[in-house]
Amino acid sequence: MAWRSSGATNAELVENLWRNKLITQPLVKSAFLKVDRAHYAPSMAYEDSPQPIGHHATISAPHMHAHAVETLLPFLLPNPDNGHQSTADSAASVIGQAGRPRRVLDIGSGSGYLTHVLAELAGETGVVVGLEHIPALRDLGERNVGKSAEGRALLASGRVRFRVGDGRKGWEEPSPGDAQPGVGGAAAPDVAREHERKDEAGGWDAIHVGAAAAVLHEDLVRQLRCPGRMFIPVAAESSSEQYIWTVDKDEHGGVKKKKLFGVRYVPLTDAPK
Ligand code: SAH
Repeated sequence: MAWRSSGATNAELVENLWRNKLITQPLVKSAFLKVDRAHYAPSMAYEDSPQPIGHHATISAPHMHAHAVETLLPFLLPNPDNGHQSTADSAASVIGQAGRPRRVLDIGSGSGYLTHVLAELAGETGVVVGLEHIPALRDLGERNVGKSAEGRALLASGRVRFRVGDGRKGWEEPSPGDAQPGVGGAAAPDVAREHERKDEAGGWDAIHVGAAAAVLHEDLVRQLRCPGRMFIPVAAESSSEQYIWTVDKDEHGGVKKKKLFGVRYVPLTDAPK
C-alpha cells in the first residue's frame, strides 16, 4: 500500500488514502486533513510507511492509523445529548451513553500523531490520553502536538494529555469535571457516592494500542466502558505473526473479541532500564 497512498503533501496523502478506500468516513478524512504528519514524522512524512522516531519506536504507517480510526470511530464521536439526534451527521452511527463526554486512551502514543487525530474526533468535551513507557517519547508526543496552534489549544484545555506508564496495565485518569483533591475546601465527600461518581466517570470509550501485545491484557478489557471498543495488535502464540483484534464491550458488560487482519508492530514491552 505504501506506493499507492503516498503523497507530496498532507492533503495529497489523505486524498490518496480516501481514493484507495482506506479512509471511508468524511469525518475521519477531515480529522486527518487537520493534522499535518510533518509535525510528527521526522522524515518522509507523507510516505504511506512507518518511519523511525527514535528509541526503537516508529510512527505507524498512515494506512494503519486510518484503519485504527475507522474501526474506533463510533466510539470516538461526541455522544448526542438526548440519545435521538446525532451531533455527527455524516457518521454511520455513534455508540455510547447519551451526553457522556468521550474518554479515549492511546497506548504507545509515540509521535503523538494519532493522539492528536483522536482528539479532533472526540470533540470539545472529550479527553484523549496518550500513554508512553519512555518519558522521552511522552515528551516527544507533547512537543509534536504543540507545533500547531490547534495542538497547543488541545494541550492547554486538557483535551489532550500525555502520561508515562506501562500500557499493559491501562491507565486511570480523572475526568475533566472531577475536583482535584484538596482544592476548593469542600466538606468531606460522601465516600460511597464519590466512588460511584468516579466509576461512572472513569474507563475508556475507546482504547487504541500502538504496539503488539503478547496477550489480550485483561486490565485493558476491564477498563473499557460499557459500551466501549479496543483496537489492539496481538502476537500469535505459535508463530511470529501478529493480528489486529477488536474487543467490544456491550452496554451490559458482555465482551466480544474479533480477529481482523495480520500486521507488523513493535512489541509492547517492559520499559528500557
Ligand atoms: N502510535 C504511535 C506508535 C509508536 S510505536 C505512533 O504512530 O507514533 C509503539 C510505541 O509503544 C513506542 O513508542 C513504545 O515506546 C511504546 N510502548 C511499548 N511498550 C509499551 C508499554 N508497555 N507501555 C506504554 N508504551 C509502550
